[in-house]
Amino acid sequence: MQDIKELSLKELEDKLLSWGSPKYYARGIYDWIYQKGAYEFSQMSNLPAPLRKALTDEFNILNLRLADLRESGDGTTKFLLELTDKNLVEAVNIPALKRATGCISSQVGCKFGCNFCASALGGFKRNLTTSEILEEVLYLKNNLKAGQLTHIVFMGTGEPLDNYENVLGAIRRINSPLAFNIGARRITVSTCGIIPGIERLALEDLQIEFSISLHAADDKTRSQLMPVNNKYPLAALIKCCQEYIAKTNRQITFEYILIKGVNADLTAAQNLVRLLEDLRLAKVNLIPANSIPESRINPADSAQVISFKEYLLKAGLNVTLRRPRGQDIDAACGQLRLRHE
Ligand code: SAH
Repeated sequence: MQDIKELSLKELEDKLLSWGSPKYYARGIYDWIYQKGAYEFSQMSNLPAPLRKALTDEFNILNLRLADLRESGDGTTKFLLELTDKNLVEAVNIPALKRATGCISSQVGCKFGCNFCASALGGFKRNLTTSEILEEVLYLKNNLKAGQLTHIVFMGTGEPLDNYENVLGAIRRINSPLAFNIGARRITVSTCGIIPGIERLALEDLQIEFSISLHAADDKTRSQLMPVNNKYPLAALIKCCQEYIAKTNRQITFEYILIKGVNADLTAAQNLVRLLEDLRLAKVNLIPANSIPESRINPADSAQVISFKEYLLKAGLNVTLRRPRGQDIDAACGQLRLRHE
C-alpha cells in the first residue's frame, strides 16, 4: 500500500493518466482528502466506481491511530497519535473565538534538551515524514468541535528546522490552495535557534510567521536553559535574525517563558531590551511557564509577569502575553507523550 499523500499533484495526475483516467480527477482527490476530510476512497462519490476501486487497491490516506486524548475545560484538545512504527506524537487543537489553531509536532522526541520542556525528557527518536506531519493536520482538521482549522503552529514536539525538508514540504501543502489552503501568514514555524535553518528559511519565498524560542537574553542563563545556545550563542543568533528581517521584511516573534527565579527579574528584562534593541521588526511573546514536575520549572508570580511586561512596553517593545491554554490537560509540549512512555 502506498501513502497517497506522498504523491505531488503532478505525480497523482500521471498515475491517473497511466490508468486511462482524466488527470483532472487528481484535484478532486486532493479536495476530498484535504478539504472534505475523506479517509476512504469509497467516500469520493463523484469519482467513477472503477477509479475508486483502483485507488483503494493501491493507496491509503491515513496511517496514524488515536492512542489517547485529553480535553481541557477551555476547549483545548490534545491528541496522542500513534504512527505505523508505534512511535507516539502529540498534536493539539486550540480553539478561540474566531479561529482554531492546530499545534503540530515535527519530530518524535527532541534532541535539543531544553530543561523546561517535557519533549526533551525522552530523548530523540526520529524525524517525521512530510506525510506524517500532514496527517497530524488532517487529524486535527477532522476532529475540531466547531468551525474551521485556520492556523497551524509548529510548536509541538521537535525542532522544525532540524527536519527542514520534510517540514517545508508539509508547509507547502498546508499552504497550497489545492490542499489545506491555510494562508502562509497563518502558519508559524518556531525554532530553538538553529542558525543554518534560519538562513535557509530566509531564502524561501514564503510569507510564514516565524518565532524564536529565546527564553533568556544572556548567554549564561540561556545556555543553562537551552544547551543549543552553546552551539548558536546569542550574538550570532541576533545577527542571523537581523539578516532574516532584512531579507524577508517579516517580523520575528521572540518567545519568552517566564520562569521563577531564573529569567523573570528586572535585570533579565533589561538584558532583553538591550538584546533586541537593534532589531527593526521584533515582537516579544511572554509565556507564563507550565510547571513540569520532572524538571523543577515553576512559573513566575503574576506580579512579576506584569512588571516584566510593563518594563518591555515602556522600553518601546512590541509585547504580548500568551494566555495559557489547556493547563489542566498537560498541554505543554511533550507532557502527554511523557506520561505514556
Ligand atoms: N523546537 C521548537 C519548537 C517547539 S515549540 C522551539 O523550540 O521553538 C517550543 C515552545 O513550547 C516554547 O517556545 C514554549 O512556547 C513551549 N513550551 C515548552 N515548554 C514549556 C513550558 N514548560 N511552559 C510553557 N511553554 C513551554
